[in-house]
Amino acid sequence: MKELIHCLYCQTENKIDENSHRQKKSQTCSQCGMPLPKHHPNSRRYRTKVFIGAFICICLFCAIMVIYLPR
Ligand SMILES: [Zn+2]
Repeated sequence: MKELIHCLYCQTENKIDENSHRQKKSQTCSQCGMPLPKHHPNSRRYRTKVFIGAFICICLFCAIMVIYLPR
């Protein structure tokens, strides 16, 4: 699976292989040669992680409120 990551320096889109994440080689931009961030705010993986975290927090809040509030 390939993922598009925007370079922080020149905003060029770079295609990143999922397999290359496991290797410890640092990814560099094809345009300017600067290292690409591992957890870019625009990356699909990061957004999924943020969504799951927010979802769990909201579920816990709802569960606490169901128990805490009077009927
Ligand atoms: Zn770049």
